Amino acid sequence: MTSVKHMKWWGWGVEGVSFHHEDKPNLAPFVLKAVDLDLHQPPKPPLAFDDLSIPDSRADEDLLSQLSEVVGAEHTHTDPMERIIHTYGKSLRDLVRLRNGDIPRIPDVVVYPLDEDEVQAIVNRVVAADAVLIPFGGGSNISGSLEPRPAESRVVVSVDLGRLNRLIEIDEESGLARIQAGTLGPDIEEQLGSRGWTLGHFPDSFTHSTLGGWVATRSSGMQSDKYGDIADIVKGLRVAMPGETLVIRPLPSTSTGPSVREMILGSEGRLGVITEVTVQVHRIPEQRLVLGYFFPNWEAGLKAMHEISVSDATPSITRVSDARETAFSFATRKKSKGLSSLVSKGLMKVLERKGWDLEQVCLSFIGFEGGKSHVSRQKSLVKEIVTRNGGIVVGKGPGQLYDQKKFDTPYIRDFLLDRGAMADVSETAAPWSKLQQVYDNAVTAANKAYDKIGVKGWVMCHLSHSYHSGACLYFTFAFRHEGIDPLADYDVVKSAIQQAFVDNGGTLSHHHAVGTEHAAWLEQDISAPGVHLIKGVLNAIDPGQNLNPGKIL
Ligand code: FAD
Repeated sequence: MTSVKHMKWWGWGVEGVSFHHEDKPNLAPFVLKAVDLDLHQPPKPPLAFDDLSIPDSRADEDLLSQLSEVVGAEHTHTDPMERIIHTYGKSLRDLVRLRNGDIPRIPDVVVYPLDEDEVQAIVNRVVAADAVLIPFGGGSNISGSLEPRPAESRVVVSVDLGRLNRLIEIDEESGLARIQAGTLGPDIEEQLGSRGWTLGHFPDSFTHSTLGGWVATRSSGMQSDKYGDIADIVKGLRVAMPGETLVIRPLPSTSTGPSVREMILGSEGRLGVITEVTVQVHRIPEQRLVLGYFFPNWEAGLKAMHEISVSDATPSITRVSDARETAFSFATRKKSKGLSSLVSKGLMKVLERKGWDLEQVCLSFIGFEGGKSHVSRQKSLVKEIVTRNGGIVVGKGPGQLYDQKKFDTPYIRDFLLDRGAMADVSETAAPWSKLQQVYDNAVTAANKAYDKIGVKGWVMCHLSHSYHSGACLYFTFAFRHEGIDPLADYDVVKSAIQQAFVDNGGTLSHHHAVGTEHAAWLEQDISAPGVHLIKGVLNAIDPGQNLNPGKIL
């Protein structure tokens, strides 16, 4: 038996935990109005595991005994549950396919190495046997980065890094921590936190994703404004490649030609298995505060975020929702009583008296971290900018709520699927000068796509992860489906939004990687010579296409 924590085989998160709407009285009417979906209808549960038709394992005795020799028979698994858990990530497409029992090709064997030596031995043996190796972190990606190619005829080996879960050491003088690649977010923070340090990388999938997965998908966490994206946080790397281990030493900066470190970032298992990462860590800040703000409209919110990004203010989080996402946030609030209900009603009255159109209000969160005087100075710098742009400070309440809800919200996709609605996300980054254009065109593209497939759909957006030159726009879209092929309808909407990104100056994804979902837009994003360059690197390291083939290119 291997004891490594996994998510539900059919959905997001921990077995027994799910999203509820009964304690959120405004949600059902909101959803009915937005996408014509009645949340009170009886939910349709996903397929039972026993009803799945699971392809037999094609692993031959020879390879199985070689793998067992490396990791031990007790860490070499061919049972159906292990193989299903390691088939897909958690994209909407993955969830829908599992619910429909659509599993044309699944890994034949799952192994759990203990350390780098075992990982290296597995890589060597899989390549020598001309099998396929797919590294598995937390299985949370949403870009189709894990699934074996449907027509793959070779044996597929999923290498789960879950036993490489330790903080190895901290160079306290430099703030550099060596951490094994399979360590999950909470385990990283617990091990660092017990010594007074933090990594500061908190993606919404934090509870179920790993350091190696973050690196392999170029992840970004909600506090990236302060700590940087994973691409900034990673300083050193060790990667088991066919026949040898790549070592990138941790250095503050270097001019050693084209960056090999950058080649590993976002490599999605195509260049080898990341075994260890050296990351920049920080002392746990004295104070951490997330404040809520209201803006009278999206344009004002956007302008304020831009001004903050080029000002002396250095917040840890900058985020503003458009009016639709703000309305959704209000609809998911739990029933409030007494004073807090009176305060929020009173606030709305004040805004109305100020002449605000309440349908256009945009909710924003801005985070501050550091010593008391630093936080206080940052707050006043931000307040000045918010006020200049017509916004107001709402206080700590919404920020605390956001902090509490952020890791629960992912459960909502399964809740909606149970009730016949598809909900998913598409995100991009673009220069400040193009953000409004990207936003307008992506919203228009989504609405046109809904018209095309004949449904009432919903699209909402927030800006987060600000940089000097631009920011990330994160769209969530949802629609009720009745047709026989919900994924065909989904593709129409998702593709329309993605195309609007690249047509208007945005990238195919700010932090969800390429995988198979976004591969169609790669050439438009980085030009044909860019694709040629990536192909050259992949072919040089993996001429036999043994390492997670079919992803990125
Ligand atoms: P996996 O899904 O297991 O693998 C992803 C890819 O990396 C695969 O190609 C795999 O082969 C490869 N890989 C994994 N480990 C290794 C390794 N050690 N060596 C080499 N290759 C490896 N992403 C964000 O960046 N920010 C967010 O806020 C965010 N929120 C999310 C919210 C939800 C609800 C969901 C479902 C996803 C979210 N994601 C987010 C996407 C996802 O969590 C990230 O892509 C994450 O980095 C994947 O990590 P993982 O450990 O789960 O990797």
